[in-house]
Amino acid sequence: MQSLALVTGASRGIGEATAIALAKQGHTVCINYRHQRQAAESVAEKISQIGGDAFIFGADISDEEEVRSLFSLLDKHPSPLRVLVNNAGILFHQSALADIAADRFHTTLMTNVIGPFLCCREATKRMSTQHGGGGGVIVNVSSAASRTGSPNEYVDYAASKGALDTMTVGLAKEVAMQGIRVNGVRPGLINTDIHASGGEPNRVSRLSSKIPLQRGGESEDVASAIAYLCSQEAAFVTGTFIDVTGGL
Ligand code: NAD
Repeated sequence: MQSLALVTGASRGIGEATAIALAKQGHTVCINYRHQRQAAESVAEKISQIGGDAFIFGADISDEEEVRSLFSLLDKHPSPLRVLVNNAGILFHQSALADIAADRFHTTLMTNVIGPFLCCREATKRMSTQHGGGGGVIVNVSSAASRTGSPNEYVDYAASKGALDTMTVGLAKEVAMQGIRVNGVRPGLINTDIHASGGEPNRVSRLSSKIPLQRGGESEDVASAIAYLCSQEAAFVTGTFIDVTGGL
């Protein structure tokens, strides 16, 4: 039977590449986006051109009501939800901790931690074999920053990804007996638009000589790791992380 995969923040970057990789695995993909409807439509079109199946749904994943609407829509789909990729995330401009406003820290946590929490809560209810579901897989897109702390740059972002990692480990143990696996990926420096929002569009090329593999990562590098974690090949893998950092 066809199954559903939800990828949050999938209108561009790592989310887009992941949506395409999961469509190639045979999932019908729900492409969640926040503002970029046209971009989301174009990802759905790319998936349809390769013979896959996808649809789009606009929702701010940090908003509880919007997340409920998103999952209500998925409930109406004939295929069961089997995969959730919590990809949506935000990064504010580089700043020392002393200059970070409480509002900014709050917004970062709402998007990077509360959003994945809300989606995990809704998804596990539907996937749980103890509640009539067929099991499933969750992948949380964290960051290498969860371990470095990103001093003088984005301590708020690093802390949010640290919280996401802890939730990943705890949830994996909580839902293992419900047939649900939960893992994370920790990308390093990946060529996407997030660095423009971080205030340094050329960050990846500036730092690429420091990466042992001597290049910045591409969205597809991260998507491959996510696709592996979602596949049957990873059937005995839960509560852990894949670093996709080129050795950094
Ligand atoms: P990106 O900015 O291209 O993608 C992030 C997506 O999330 C965007 O489409 C954005 O619209 C969406 N989004 C943000 N807030 C949202 C919300 N509240 N609701 C719904 N969608 C929302 O950047 P990316 O690099 O593709 O980032 C994807 C993930 O990878 C993020 O979680 C990011 O923290 C993580 N990451 C990226 C890098 C990197 O170097 N690019 C490194 C480590 C981790």
